[in-house]
Amino acid sequence: MADFFNTDIKFLKGVGESRAKVLNKELEIFNFRDLLYYFPFRHIDRSKFYKIAELSGEMPMVQIIGRFVSFTIEGEGAKRRLNAVFSDGSRLMECVWFSKVDSIKDAYKIGQDYVIFGKPVQFRSIFSISHPEVSAYDPQKPPMGFVGVYTVTENMRRKGYSSRLLSSLVKNLIANPRFDTLPSILPEEVRERYNLLSLKDALVQMHCPENAELLRKARERLKFEELFYLQLHILRFSRERGRKIKGVIFPTIGKYFNDYFFNCIPFELTGAQKRVLKEIRADMRTGRQMNRLLQGDVGSGKTMVGFMSMLMAVDNGYQGALMAPTEILATQHYETISKWGAMIGLRVELLTGSVRTRKRREIDEGLRNGDIHILVGTHALIEDNVVFNRLGLVVIDEQHRFGVAQRAKMWKKAVVPPHVLVMTATPIPRTLAMTIYGDLDVSVIDELPPGRKPIETIMRYDENRMEVNRLIARELHAGRQIYIVYPLISENEKLELKSVEEGLERIKGLFPEVEVCCVHGKMKPEEKDFQMERFVSGQARILVATTVIEVGVNVPNASVMVVENAERFGLSQLHQLRGRVGRGSDKSYCILMTKFKIGSETRKRLSIMTETTDGFLISEADMKLRGPGDMEGTQQSGLAFALKVANLASDGQILNIAREAADMVLNAHPELVAGNPSPTDKTGEKLLLSSSSLALVASELRFRFAKTVDWSQIS
Ligand code: ADP
Ligand code: MG
Repeated sequence: MADFFNTDIKFLKGVGESRAKVLNKELEIFNFRDLLYYFPFRHIDRSKFYKIAELSGEMPMVQIIGRFVSFTIEGEGAKRRLNAVFSDGSRLMECVWFSKVDSIKDAYKIGQDYVIFGKPVQFRSIFSISHPEVSAYDPQKPPMGFVGVYTVTENMRRKGYSSRLLSSLVKNLIANPRFDTLPSILPEEVRERYNLLSLKDALVQMHCPENAELLRKARERLKFEELFYLQLHILRFSRERGRKIKGVIFPTIGKYFNDYFFNCIPFELTGAQKRVLKEIRADMRTGRQMNRLLQGDVGSGKTMVGFMSMLMAVDNGYQGALMAPTEILATQHYETISKWGAMIGLRVELLTGSVRTRKRREIDEGLRNGDIHILVGTHALIEDNVVFNRLGLVVIDEQHRFGVAQRAKMWKKAVVPPHVLVMTATPIPRTLAMTIYGDLDVSVIDELPPGRKPIETIMRYDENRMEVNRLIARELHAGRQIYIVYPLISENEKLELKSVEEGLERIKGLFPEVEVCCVHGKMKPEEKDFQMERFVSGQARILVATTVIEVGVNVPNASVMVVENAERFGLSQLHQLRGRVGRGSDKSYCILMTKFKIGSETRKRLSIMTETTDGFLISEADMKLRGPGDMEGTQQSGLAFALKVANLASDGQILNIAREAADMVLNAHPELVAGNPSPTDKTGEKLLLSSSSLALVASELRFRFAKTVDWSQIS
């Protein structure tokens, strides 16, 4: 006999063959476990009875005890309706039915006690519920408590399935005597330590909570369970990686680094830059391969950190590579880094798809014999025919544009995999970073170089365009450059093009004395590059574009960023766009244009931009508003996997605790580390499990993650 969890759903009382087929197909419910883990998406509070006098227009569904005072049928034919006056002894209200008028009128008796349930609507001073649920009131029966509401597909609805039916099936399952023999999912040792509900209690309270507090505890327990296994899964792979993958050791800081640092550097490093360099330095002498994510807001000076890290490699006889997502960015990096490198006699080369054969041969040779110290490029860098002599460090800029597979390819370019430094200006909230990257180390540059003039961010309506145009004219007159960005409207490319083209014509008409260039998604890459180049070189003074303008592009002379239809952008995206200005020493402006009619939610969201320039705050706010699934960098990781109850945006605290628990379990049980039993970690705190708990953990991990990718490769 299959155990309780694995029992086929068709054997549940009230299901049978044909319903089982529907549950299989529509909800992927195959066995008892699937149904028990099919949670209500919300709960209706039926623990409390309301008085008519307490009602207000904004209430959700409420229940009221009282009696029908009268029934009246109004209207003719299809327009017939039944009006009932309902009293709770103190006040009167109304119930209305638009169908089955006669049978309902016959079913309910005047003067008997009933409970009515539904959403109250207010007409003048009278409250009314249409099509209330009505049941006889029995003072002996305890109130229903909270009632779960379940998602039912359209197909199911057509076949007569309802949330109520699912609720009754779950109740049948809970009433099954074998429910008491439910296996545990969390090891008992973990459950006790963190004082969590037992699985049985958690499931009962999740489906049919007695009160709000128990519902909260049930959710907490089930969230913990999900996050505990997720963390355990990630950590056991990342620990294995930490052990197995030896890295190149860079024992010395040598002449290049010191020469550059003491004699050539054009500015004083910020405290944050120095700290991060120390962290990287420490990594590179451990003998473990470094996998570090460097987060720093736009303009925080990540390039210099990347460059000086590469100097550490060069000092130890290794080569460095810097990879950027686009040709323009790669070229900009090349210009900067070759200038810096030239001061200390380094050979720096640029490799992109458009490098000609002869030059390409030169580069290949220089890479092989080690003459080239630093190679900058696009993903042309990771092609198999690019062979380094001794690659020691790869710096990847603007990480979210690169897929996991591409990064993994970089690893294979040397016998001992090179250290990897991933730089990103998209601040990923900590909870998310922990989940996506597992054991990836994170460094943060949380300080901007001194002397930056803050960017003034303002919201303007279309009606105020004149004022905005005056500001643009003034800045142009002062010799500055202007960005004007339109949203991508992916579902309607024609419309998108129209808005950009109209914008372009309008701008050309308004400012005929300057050159205007334009970049949009429908252009060929060469045309795009050509247009961008006109702006970067300063020849064109205004750039009209959709969001295809490059994430890291650096035009310090640009001082105004106008974002059209700003309400269509996510906050993090707006922050990135704003980061394109404020790179010079002059005051800059970011102007968020919207229609006059935007909702108050939208206004509130956009006003976050005017209140802070802190990318991390903005990113947290963005994640709270949009949910983690929409965050950049999450799609590629398969994070859209089944987190049913836990929410990465709001459950950071539970995530931290679950991670601590997973860590302690792994400390005590290194045999859980994927494929590599090795001695116990002596330093960390341990949580010892019984052998039956261990077996449980192993089988749960298999059950949950049999189908997912190898997370250790995601970094
Ligand atoms: P990002 O982190 O956005 O990639 P960059 O590396 O492009 O930022 O740096 C932005 C600008 O700030 C560059 O012009 C760079 O030379 C300059 N910069 C970097 N570090 C400092 C510093 N410590 N002091 C002054 N300017 C700096
Ligand atoms: Mg950059």
